[in-house]
Amino acid sequence: MRIGIVTPEVAPFSKTGGLADVCGALPVEFARLGHEVAVISPLYRSARAHGLDPTPLRVRVPLGSNGVEASVFRSGHHFFIDHPPFYDREGFYGTARGDYEDNAARFTLLSKGALELLRALDWRPDVLHVHDWQTALVPVYVKTRAKDAFAGVKTVLTVHNLAYQGLFWHLDMSLFGLDWSLFTWKQLEFYGKVNLLKGGLVFADAVTTVSPTYAREIQTPELGGGLDGVLRERASSVVGILNGADYSVWDPSTDRHLAANYSPQAMQGKARCKEALQRRARLPVRPDAPIFAMIGRLVQQKGFDLVVEAAELLVQLDVQIVLLGSGDPRFLLPLQRLGRLYGDRLSMEVAFDEAYAHQIEAGADFFIMPSRFEPCGLNQLYSLRYGAVPVVRRTGGLADTIVDGKTGIVFDAYETEALVEAMQRALALYADRSRYRAVQRAGMEQDFSWSVSARKYLELFERL
Ligand code: ADP
Repeated sequence: MRIGIVTPEVAPFSKTGGLADVCGALPVEFARLGHEVAVISPLYRSARAHGLDPTPLRVRVPLGSNGVEASVFRSGHHFFIDHPPFYDREGFYGTARGDYEDNAARFTLLSKGALELLRALDWRPDVLHVHDWQTALVPVYVKTRAKDAFAGVKTVLTVHNLAYQGLFWHLDMSLFGLDWSLFTWKQLEFYGKVNLLKGGLVFADAVTTVSPTYAREIQTPELGGGLDGVLRERASSVVGILNGADYSVWDPSTDRHLAANYSPQAMQGKARCKEALQRRARLPVRPDAPIFAMIGRLVQQKGFDLVVEAAELLVQLDVQIVLLGSGDPRFLLPLQRLGRLYGDRLSMEVAFDEAYAHQIEAGADFFIMPSRFEPCGLNQLYSLRYGAVPVVRRTGGLADTIVDGKTGIVFDAYETEALVEAMQRALALYADRSRYRAVQRAGMEQDFSWSVSARKYLELFERL
């Protein structure tokens, strides 16, 4: 197949979240399995440093009554749309002060520019795979104003987080170059505004999201972000496909960040990693004290309100808690305070530190993820592989990847008591050494590699 991917982020050129990893890893797998791929994304400032090749290609995109001309850079199967006034900026979508005001224009250029580029390359894809609201206009164009040029091309929209929808004022319809007849509640209209993600959900031939459970959850009012009705209407075309873990980066048998390497067959190294973690976190070096860890953005979604309350109780027990993250001071300040009061039990580091994240996974006995919602989640996959038994809430991708009592501990209610009870179950498990080792080993032997996900996407493309 010929597979065109249009995405707002692609690792290693541009990354703010898991979406970038998906768009970095999937095309490589597609190509390895013999398919032809082209990945189209913006040339942000972060991508410029990667030594890309200029091409003679130009794309001209009308934007309302004006138009812009963009040039195109290339690196292997990656194509980058270059228009410095739009993309050579500090952030991808905005700054700390808020979203960029011209995001409608910026991502129209990406969506329309991608279609123009495919025509300029004279490369007709069988499938166009697009990601999140920033590229959701692609399926709309393919089914409306570009339908002759792209007749027979199938479109697939992947939703990485339904909380972000791309809402713009109604007069942007002319900027998008879309006919006003599409501005109805059945298509792009959403409470008087234009909702780009909704347009994509309506017009794409298939919709995917990043776990089977999240695919069901977004069809309910609780997690549907106002689009659950649209998603229910398209229920037969909505599928969940789990993200994969990149085991070339996250594998304790080869990880260079660790004090020692280990594998299910040779676990001695993990004890050395635990000791190294206790030293780094300035906790007492005690092989017998169970370490609970957590890494992540300190935001509501991740359940940090529960962690704050649970930590108040758990510091009374004989446990160690290691936290790494940055974000909302509502969660940060109480955790830092606990760290000062109970320095021999709780360590909180405020940073984004890739190496330390690896060392925590390797040193921890348990990894907690009490998320309110979790489209897929990656940390629990890394934790499985590193033998840090996951303690997770049954939601989204967490529900799909952790089996209670077999590979981890799963709890249901979004309540502090439920998290504390789950952590107490973890302590009981830890006290029963042979049972703990069995759960740990079963987790380490799970396979969530990208090749599994890639095959599922290919099956979907072939069905279309
Ligand atoms: P999300 O994409 O919602 O933030 P995921 O679990 O899918 O959550 O992925 C988060 C990724 O970011 C993981 O690879 C995690 O290790 C990493 N990460 C998050 N916060 C930090 C941090 N403070 N330092 C290092 N890595 C972090």
